[in-house]
Amino acid sequence: MEISQERTHGRRAITESDDFVTFIPYAALSPYHLWIFPKAHVACFSAQPLETLAELATTLRTILGKVDGMLGNPAFNLVLRSLGPEEKEAGHFHWYISIVPRINKRAGFELGTGMYVNPSLPESCADALRSLRAPIARSKRSRRTLRLLASLTGWRAGRRQWMSVFAAAVASFIRF
Ligand SMILES: [Zn+2]
Repeated sequence: MEISQERTHGRRAITESDDFVTFIPYAALSPYHLWIFPKAHVACFSAQPLETLAELATTLRTILGKVDGMLGNPAFNLVLRSLGPEEKEAGHFHWYISIVPRINKRAGFELGTGMYVNPSLPESCADALRSLRAPIARSKRSRRTLRLLASLTGWRAGRRQWMSVFAAAVASFIRF
């Protein structure tokens, strides 16, 4: 999958750092449905370079802070889409994280037809999120993001590796 194509569609982009880009997909299922992609092609999360994970944690924290600020601390689903380690060389799939704030009450139409009605333009949602300065809600938000990262890295690697990644992430939060 080609990430630069999404990056050039800057109006749906929210954040971009050295290794990750966040944007609202073209056909978002719901308002503020977000994707976080590694820029380099990696099919399986287990093959993502360890040294980039602290940046992923920072990205998650920034994005979730913006979502909280914009939508008032909504419940959300966070899904890691990845091939398994045995398929990490695959060229056809690019791992990513999908975040879906649960703010859209599904109506009978959607439940009945399986089709989603998204009342907001992805470009408008991206604009709003991009320009929002995320409130630095230190305590709760940090702990929540750290837990998310812990579950990601715990899935990813053995315990010793997990601990070093976790320590790097904590260090990056303290500097934030
Ligand atoms: Zn790719």
